[in-house]
Amino acid sequence: MVGLEMRVVKYRAVLLFGAPGSGKGTQGTILGTIPGFHHCACGDVFRALDYGSALGQKFAEYSARGELVPDDITIELWSSQIANMVQLRRYKPEIDLLALDGIPRSVRQAELLQQHLDVHHVFHLSCPDRGKLVDRLKRRALKENRLDDANEEVIRNRLSSYEEQTKPVLDFYVRTFGPDIVTQVDATQWPYQVLRFILEHLEDSQRRARSPVFAGSQSVPA
Ligand code: ADP
Repeated sequence: MVGLEMRVVKYRAVLLFGAPGSGKGTQGTILGTIPGFHHCACGDVFRALDYGSALGQKFAEYSARGELVPDDITIELWSSQIANMVQLRRYKPEIDLLALDGIPRSVRQAELLQQHLDVHHVFHLSCPDRGKLVDRLKRRALKENRLDDANEEVIRNRLSSYEEQTKPVLDFYVRTFGPDIVTQVDATQWPYQVLRFILEHLEDSQRRARSPVFAGSQSVPA
């Protein structure tokens, strides 16, 4: 192999970070409709698995208990999904900014992802009111019929594993890149207000940055 093929590609990414029910998926889905963004939700990657396969069964087991799937399996599955998206040209890393939601969810995952990601920013969708998160998840359970939102005990488990395993990821990024890498966003606002905040922040950094957040030249969508 020569030249280009040997080059290690790191995906430019912003991370949508927050507790279950904080609205990462809502924001990621909207961002994914904007040209220049590609949204990838780790939970969706798992839910797309065939539940008859060994991996699909493993996911069902962990998520039904409100637990995280083990790190190595998660990163392996995620990287092969991203590689598929690149191959299908649904995600164009040279143009698109990756909006990641639901990954990394542990410090180990963040470490493993360092070889794949060029993290531009981490938006922490913060909602200190646990009761509000529980209500949102229960409402979602009714709409989406999700195993992991099905009862209050599972929901409480998910919120605890967020506090214990996922929240330390914020410190990991602050230690690695400095405090400016993380921005707190008030997740109790209306979705359009959260979206506006994120977009204004990205626009601001695009204006200031030496290495722009958005790579391609301005283009008019076809
Ligand atoms: P939410 O939108 O409520 O944050 P997700 O849809 O992202 O939830 O994830 C659903 C479930 O999938 C999690 O409870 C967990 O079992 C599994 N999962 C998703 N992402 C990860 C990850 N990065 N690491 C381990 N498990 C994950």
